[in-house]
Amino acid sequence: MKFTPAKPPLTGETFDSLAARLAERNEPAFRAKQILDWLYKKRAKSWDEMTSLPKALRMWLAETFDLLPAALVLNKQSADVTDKLLLELRDGSLIETVIIRVPQEGVGLDHSRKTICISTQVGCAMGCVFCASGLAGLKRDLSAGEIVAQLLQVCQIEDARTPRAHAELASFDNIVVMGMGEPLANYDALIRALTIVNAGWGLGFGARRITISTSGLVPKILKLAEEPLGFRLAISLHGATDAIRERIMPVNKAYPLAKLIPAVRAFAEKHGRMVTLEFILIAEVNDALEQAEKLRDIARDLHAHVNLIPYNTVAGLPWQRPSITRQERFAEVLRRARISVTLRREKGHDIDAACGQLRLRTERTGEMTVT
Ligand code: SAH
Ligand code: SF4
Repeated sequence: MKFTPAKPPLTGETFDSLAARLAERNEPAFRAKQILDWLYKKRAKSWDEMTSLPKALRMWLAETFDLLPAALVLNKQSADVTDKLLLELRDGSLIETVIIRVPQEGVGLDHSRKTICISTQVGCAMGCVFCASGLAGLKRDLSAGEIVAQLLQVCQIEDARTPRAHAELASFDNIVVMGMGEPLANYDALIRALTIVNAGWGLGFGARRITISTSGLVPKILKLAEEPLGFRLAISLHGATDAIRERIMPVNKAYPLAKLIPAVRAFAEKHGRMVTLEFILIAEVNDALEQAEKLRDIARDLHAHVNLIPYNTVAGLPWQRPSITRQERFAEVLRRARISVTLRREKGHDIDAACGQLRLRTERTGEMTVT
């Protein structure tokens, strides 16, 4: 389930891998830094812009690497400050990247805090029954270069909106790996991509501002805990008992709560930071107060933050979000126990911001124009 492009993307190269390729051509070592600076700091959109490189080297680069392997085909902006980008990869696959702007008091939207939601796979194999991303199964994993390319696309869009005071900086504040796909099922590409994003020669973006969300692949959670970079972790729990979780998330059969919870605890202890438990509220499925009580106990035990997310309806699926009153009652059980909890008012509800929905619609209708 891998796609091998004609040319590897430059965005998938580390400093060392690029330096090694350049050494084969007897290029001096400083060229790797120069090239990566053009890509990540100066945000060159073409090889020709890299004017400090000799022409012959630029020609070799153009023949050897794909500069940015993800083309923007649609930017669907919503009134409530979310941009949903639809990107086309070299094999025609479509993926989604979302920009979520959180307005700050006293500054315009252009200076708001920005969280970028990135995808790690085309489709998803996990089969959660409520999710648009998994409806057609997994098409393929993204390469590290395709994961990084999403962030560079965002930088280019944001740079055009707000001329940067400091060219060296990434144009956003947080990254959440919560788009299409199960990130920990594409582990090596994910870690390579985030290493590039974090590196000083890359986007120089702090690991503590990167959150990886998983449906609960226990061995990979334990592996992630051992990584030198301290990423944040979010768990898609969605059921506070095995009976409920198993009904909606097949992954629970292999990794039930008795395995998942100790793995999350091990991660939290290793990193000394709060893990987030995500809990989508789906009417008549997991929104009973007994679930809230069980969730409260798990959160207390793990000293975790809880993110309650009213379900975003998916065309063709029967699930609904509970009423606001019911959502509030659920949240209140947690608040009363002094659990750190947010009840998320969905951003971008009007543009299908939940994972996989824009791609789904585009593939079903073949329609790519913004209406
Ligand atoms: N595969 C990973 C990350 C991508 S999904 C995971 O499952 O954690 C990101 C989040 O969106 C998950 O918590 C997922 O359960 C949630 N999600 C999926 N479909 C949704 C929907 N229709 N409405 C609200 N949240 C949804
Ligand atoms: Fe995959 Fe996450 Fe959707 Fe489950 S919720 S199908 S793991 S993307």
